[in-house]
Amino acid sequence: MRVYDSLVDLMGNTPLVRLHKVTAGVSAQVVAKVEYFNPGGSVKDRIAARMIEAAEASGELRPGGVIVEPTSGNTGVGLAIVAQQKGYRCLFVVPDKVAQDKISVLRAYGAEVVVCPTAVSPDHPDSYYSVSDRLAREVPNAWKPNQYTNVNNPDSHYHSTGPEIWEQTDGRITHFVAGIGTGGTISGTGRYLKEVSGGQVKIIGADPEGSVYSGGSGRPYLVEGVGEDIWPATYDTKICDEVIAVTDKESFNMTRRLAREEGLLVGGSCGMAVVAALRVAATAAPDDMIVVLLPDGGRGYLSKIFNDDWMADYGFLTTSSEEGLVGDVL
Ligand code: PMP
Repeated sequence: MRVYDSLVDLMGNTPLVRLHKVTAGVSAQVVAKVEYFNPGGSVKDRIAARMIEAAEASGELRPGGVIVEPTSGNTGVGLAIVAQQKGYRCLFVVPDKVAQDKISVLRAYGAEVVVCPTAVSPDHPDSYYSVSDRLAREVPNAWKPNQYTNVNNPDSHYHSTGPEIWEQTDGRITHFVAGIGTGGTISGTGRYLKEVSGGQVKIIGADPEGSVYSGGSGRPYLVEGVGEDIWPATYDTKICDEVIAVTDKESFNMTRRLAREEGLLVGGSCGMAVVAALRVAATAAPDDMIVVLLPDGGRGYLSKIFNDDWMADYGFLTTSSEEGLVGDVL
């Protein structure tokens, strides 16, 4: 019989899929690591499992514990799945720019969700950082995984995402491209790939224009889950050979193309990462292999990125005459 004991056993081991249409004119291979194949639908299942197991082992998380975390949704889903399997309560704090669909998903898994304003500074008492700190102090038996400082976040990628990619490509990967949010994905995967290849694999960060990682001030952008206005401990500032800034407009139009042309219904940070990967591919050698990580699926963004009115309101819809982009108004 092929029966898994728990969904937790299905986290990780996601496939690599070659991109065909959006890579027209590119000679290097560009392959996507499709993280929506995780049971919670995103790359964040990996860190959820490892952070919880480590906290149980260290005694920080005990039976009857409450998991309190500021999360844009995906980490919450991973934590909620692992927590319910193990009998913990979840209390999540999210910024109000997060799509309503994502919040509904967290509640569907049985988590409690507190929504906080995006347009306040991180040290403001109403910011989602401050509110989650306060709840972690005040709620009895609370444990805060803190994905922004928890070493098990990058370590989960060092032990799973990195080795998977190396094995799946038979060591032929030359470039790894990923968005940077907490920095856990790029730091852990990047560290493994650099070590195993003797420094040969180039690590390229993708970042929303305006975020600090690509030299911005931290000004707002609409793509979710990536970019920062602070420098989290989970980001290894030496890991990237290059960080490429991508606009919201470029990210969202590429996200729509991935659904329409590659059959990949994915989130906005995936479009962002693919735009960066294609910029890398433009100057790469023909036998190079670029692996781009796609963090989540697109169902949580139907009312935004995949909604023409929302795209038009922000001036994001493009015409075919705009270089490299094909939008809806043809
Ligand atoms: N994309 C999405 C949709 C995410 O939720 C996250 C996690 N914040 C990322 C990208 C970035 O991953 P990381 O935190 O590992 O840098």
